[in-house]
Amino acid sequence: MTEPPAPRRGRGRPRAAGAVDCPRCHEMVPRVKYSFPEGRICGRCFDEAIHTSGRCARCGIARLLPGRDSRGAAICGDCAGIRMSFRCGTCGEEGALKRAGQCERCVNRVDLSEYLRLDRPAADPALDRLRDRLLSADRQASIYQWLRLKRPRDLLHALGSGELPLTHESFDALPQDAAVRHMRALLVDVDALPRRDEPLAQFEMWITSKIASIDDKTARDAVDRFARWHHLKRLRAGTERWDSQRSVHNAKQEITVAVDFVGWISSRGMPLAQCSQADVDEWLVTGATTRYTVRQFLLFASRAQDTVPLDVPRRPARSTRRISQEERLAAIGSFLQDETVTPADRVAMLLLLVFAQPVARIVEFPLTVIRELDDSRLVLEVVSDQVPIPEPFASLVRDHLAARSRDRTGNVARNPFLFPGTRAGSHVTQNHLRTVIAGLGVNVLAAKNGALDELVAAMPAPMVADALGFSYTALGQHERYRGSQYERYVSARQGLEARRPRR
Ligand SMILES: [Zn+2]
Ligand SMILES: [Zn+2]
Ligand SMILES: [Zn+2]
Repeated sequence: MTEPPAPRRGRGRPRAAGAVDCPRCHEMVPRVKYSFPEGRICGRCFDEAIHTSGRCARCGIARLLPGRDSRGAAICGDCAGIRMSFRCGTCGEEGALKRAGQCERCVNRVDLSEYLRLDRPAADPALDRLRDRLLSADRQASIYQWLRLKRPRDLLHALGSGELPLTHESFDALPQDAAVRHMRALLVDVDALPRRDEPLAQFEMWITSKIASIDDKTARDAVDRFARWHHLKRLRAGTERWDSQRSVHNAKQEITVAVDFVGWISSRGMPLAQCSQADVDEWLVTGATTRYTVRQFLLFASRAQDTVPLDVPRRPARSTRRISQEERLAAIGSFLQDETVTPADRVAMLLLLVFAQPVARIVEFPLTVIRELDDSRLVLEVVSDQVPIPEPFASLVRDHLAARSRDRTGNVARNPFLFPGTRAGSHVTQNHLRTVIAGLGVNVLAAKNGALDELVAAMPAPMVADALGFSYTALGQHERYRGSQYERYVSARQGLEARRPRR
């Protein structure tokens, strides 16, 4: 069984393989139709032949070069012995003859003049310029093809009859397909339509159609104001022109989510003005995180008093991973009990999981970070405040300190660090601790973030910051995270409970 040869991809669309051999391209084609001295050639080779011009490789005259010599060089019809004429009966130029012995340009001229009704005495000179612009193009073949399509032809007819006035507004009212966009660009090019910022104009049209889908008038007005006053105005001001495509994309996304949001609110039979924080929270927790994109709209709508003051946290960064409280408690429990892990590694893990201490800091902890108070309670003293170390964690710390002092090498006894390294006077490396942690199946960053969230929940952020040596900014983020994810979730759940009909 033999496979047919793969068709060579040249001009035009790929074609079906056939049983006839074209003497010019040597492809097996379904049929050959044009009689040339070398035989009957295929349609694609003929099309290429009548669109090749230049200086003849044999006689040196510049003209149409439909022939090919034995080495494949393009030659003129006379040199090739082609008897067929390619001379246009109207303009006398050589080329592809399309209708009544006329070349593509002459056929295009006739068709454009007819469609645009340029023979009328009152024809708009702007339409003359449109025709001349099209006829000046090098590749008349593509104009010829374009004029065979219904959509461009209809537009030309509408322009010629005056049914489609030469204004942007009349073009704006049409469906914005490729033909309309191309025609508009041509008309702008010949000064038949004024130049304008097309992406911005398209965005404005997009707003109009997007907002039309909102049934409730008050909500529609609110989103309309947001779209025009917040987004369109900013884009017009040109401050974001350096990346207007991206800005338009972001604006569209925010408007789309705003439309979804007001639709969701009205689906519960509630006017936008009565939407509460609990509704917003429910919206946020019952869908994809893209719903956080509603933030700008709600900030704007609150200020415009279209809604009560509402708050939406920023979308939580995707890179910030967290372990849940349950996972964290499970990990703490296992490290407290797991005898196969050394006390040193278990203490390090617990400093991470219980006190959210970063690995970089843990490895450098001096021995003095742990203090025993007069009442024999253990405390952690990272900065200046003392944080009690709860049982049974405290016992484990005592075990670690005891094992440390039992070391007979003498190196450890004089070592100033809580976790001595292998070399005298050194501390364990971050790498060592990270390897231990990874071996225990804990994601360091996620564990730390999870622990911090819980700490911030247990006491006000500034207290945690002072006691455990974190910056207020870093903790503020955790407080916001808690505020948005956990407590808001609870409040949203409570809102749901309250609304649920009683049985
Ligand atoms: Zn061929
Ligand atoms: Zn020649
Ligand atoms: Zn012609």
